[in-house]
Amino acid sequence: MEASISGVGVGRGLGLLPCSTKLPKALPFSRSSGFRVKMTASVEDKKKNYTLQKSEEAFNVAKVLAALAETMKKGTSFGAPCFLENVLAEMVISAVPSIEMVRFVNSGTEACMGVLRLARAFTGREKIIKFEGCYHGHADPFLVKAGSGVATLGLPDSPGVPKAATFETLTAPFNDISTVENLFRSKKGELAAIILEPVVGNSGFIPPKPDFLEAIRCLTKESGALLIFDEVMTGFRLSYGGAQEYFGVTPDLTTLGKIIGGGLPVGAYGGRREIMEMVAPAGPMYQAGTLSGNPLAMTAGIQTLKRLKEPGTYEYLDKITRELVQGILDTGKKTGHAICGGYIRGMFGFFFTEGPVHNFDDAKKSDAAKFARFYRGMLEEGVYFAPSRFEAGFTSLAHSSEDIQKTIAAAEKVLSKI
Ligand code: PLP
Repeated sequence: MEASISGVGVGRGLGLLPCSTKLPKALPFSRSSGFRVKMTASVEDKKKNYTLQKSEEAFNVAKVLAALAETMKKGTSFGAPCFLENVLAEMVISAVPSIEMVRFVNSGTEACMGVLRLARAFTGREKIIKFEGCYHGHADPFLVKAGSGVATLGLPDSPGVPKAATFETLTAPFNDISTVENLFRSKKGELAAIILEPVVGNSGFIPPKPDFLEAIRCLTKESGALLIFDEVMTGFRLSYGGAQEYFGVTPDLTTLGKIIGGGLPVGAYGGRREIMEMVAPAGPMYQAGTLSGNPLAMTAGIQTLKRLKEPGTYEYLDKITRELVQGILDTGKKTGHAICGGYIRGMFGFFFTEGPVHNFDDAKKSDAAKFARFYRGMLEEGVYFAPSRFEAGFTSLAHSSEDIQKTIAAAEKVLSKI
């Protein structure tokens, strides 16, 4: 078990929180998809000086809310495609390198379920490879050595999942290309796809080793299996075009969620046209959803992506995240704690260990008890980190440099006494 088990309230992404926790007062760095109303700020002189100033205009919160109010007047849900769905689709297609067509759903879980069925339908094969400690939502076939809350709660393989549902799911350690090569050799012609988080966020923050993603791309191409990037977390976070743009590796299919709904329930999967045309009604692979692509989620997504597209966004995220992670690492040294951490743009993480951390097993060797003490101490100081060492942290445009400095100061205080 990870941090803070003294209460109830299990929420996806929030883990276990003590009943007494007053979250809204804390400065949040945990997984977020939308905007933060409390910690707002606005970008000044976007190109040269990425200094955020606190203001109610922050993330254009007012714009998102006003757009939602307008949309709501015209109807909240139609159970049919709507114009706004096309607008967001165009934005996603023009941003994400692998996506030529996209289908909206209501969550990251649904996106991963859809993309798995599609990969199997397209290839006519059934086996998939997922990586230990990666989380692709709570659908049965993915609950094998899963990360995130599944790992936090010590339930890597959940009861209630029939053996048959996971029979075709093979696993390998992240960053271990030779295990993947062996699987490709032994299951020649049987693999439909590899699915992975291009930067793992669900075992803590674990970036790919140099050339790992390229090697996976080569293996899948050679064998006719599809490469799926689960960018539910990294999409629009590492860059406007996601991890695939950041690393220059283009998968066949991509899943998205979180950010593209601006805080409302959303998910999406997309990819090469010839694959996506298998999805009904264009093709025979059935998948549908009454609330999918509803106008409210589309509106919040459109406004959020517009904001993220403004110049300076990712440079700013890079700057504040670097400051934060460097500050915590320095503080660790000063206070005598071994901490290993890293970041890419708006995503970061650190483990209480000498490191390095390249996979889930490495992450599990980090000091869980110390993390729990750190997490609780920070909460008492008014800073809310993700409540598990198996969760990445996120900075947001609403965080100011002042917030970062306050966080580092709080970390120094907490680390000095744990
Ligand atoms: N895939 C990844 C990489 C995720 O991080 C998550 C959720 O955190 C999911 C899929 C599932 O998304 P959701 O919680 O919206 O179902």
